[in-house]
Amino acid sequence: MPEARGWFWSGRDGERRASEHAWTLEHRISMLERERKDLRRILAALGEGVLAVDSAGIVLHANPTAIELLGLDAESSLGSHLYVAVPQQSLCEALEEVMRGVETRDTLVTRELVVQHADGEHVLVAQVTPLRGANRSRADIDMAAEGAVAVVRDVTELRRLELARQEFFGNVSHELKTPITAIRGSLETIVDDPDMQEPVRARFLDSAVRHAARLNALVNDLLALARLEGDPGELHRAPLDLAALAGEIVYSVESSAVARGVTIVLNAIDGPAGADNDFVLVADEEAMRQAISNLVSNAIAYSEAGSRVELQVRRSDAFLELDVRDQGCGIPADAIERIFERFYRVDAARSREIGGTGIGLSIVKHVAQAHGGSVDVTSELGMGSSFIMRFPVSRSDATGTSHG
Ligand code: ADP
Repeated sequence: MPEARGWFWSGRDGERRASEHAWTLEHRISMLERERKDLRRILAALGEGVLAVDSAGIVLHANPTAIELLGLDAESSLGSHLYVAVPQQSLCEALEEVMRGVETRDTLVTRELVVQHADGEHVLVAQVTPLRGANRSRADIDMAAEGAVAVVRDVTELRRLELARQEFFGNVSHELKTPITAIRGSLETIVDDPDMQEPVRARFLDSAVRHAARLNALVNDLLALARLEGDPGELHRAPLDLAALAGEIVYSVESSAVARGVTIVLNAIDGPAGADNDFVLVADEEAMRQAISNLVSNAIAYSEAGSRVELQVRRSDAFLELDVRDQGCGIPADAIERIFERFYRVDAARSREIGGTGIGLSIVKHVAQAHGGSVDVTSELGMGSSFIMRFPVSRSDATGTSHG
């Protein structure tokens, strides 16, 4: 008979072996305890929720993210039945389905859940897979699962971005299609009518040219937006005198303002230090030029003849500000929040008529933010609007270098 192994020892040797055994056991228990703690720590650090139940539907584990996302009771859910602990019926059903219907290793059930959190509705995606013993052989895999585990992700932000992207492409396609259709219509009419009278032909050609210019403006604005939404490191930052730049822009639009009967003036108001570089900001000149031009051309475009547009560049201890103020049509209070959105227009027909793309202010906002600043608007219907780009600067910037 083979020698009995394990617990049957006697004498001094037996005592030594028993104490060695006890030590090994203790060591193993503490290792297992440590592994369990490590595992809990890892699960607790996951950005995804993990919820595990056994084959009787009893909750074995819910990490903090699962507790938060699913709104579980941190105290009582462990050890409760999943129908008691988990408020989302469809997730409970998915967990059961996976446990009941497992046939292959690849079983995976996905459910989308809409849950109410304190900050509003969240969309969650739960992927449920069977839970199996660690040492199962391949042959065992067809057997029923020992439980199920759900991995839950919050996809609210992802869905919002997808929706915004779809909306953006829908808008871009629509905006591109309008001038393309107009250009094609004008040119086809000319081609189809070789006997067309010269003044009529000139009108059609003029319309095609105007729409081509709009197409060009739109594509340029889209490229600018793509550049600004890309890597901020792409911007070429260098010291830039904002007052000098505003002066150049005023000079370049003066004739078109006069043609519309609008007076345009520029004021530069020194800061408390009155230093030479009061208006200097480290900024990307091209981006800043485009932002200010957008504000100035809007101010002119949305003004009536006989009114005045004023640009003010001013410096305080904390900020360098550029204020573009008009006496035009103003913006309704309920639209103020939305005018910086891409393609949002208060009056789409008027915007198109003046050659607007609907993304000018979106570019302004991106440029301000890319330089650590902001843009604010105050407006009164029928009285006018004031758009202020504001960049933080420190007092030392007036005597040394400034930052963007
Ligand atoms: P658009 O190309 O249509 O001017 P913007 O993004 O520059 O696009 O402006 C968005 C909308 O905000 C405009 O369509 C217009 O309704 C409104 N808006 C912008 N600037 C002014 C302004 N100075 N006065 C009145 N409305 C303005």
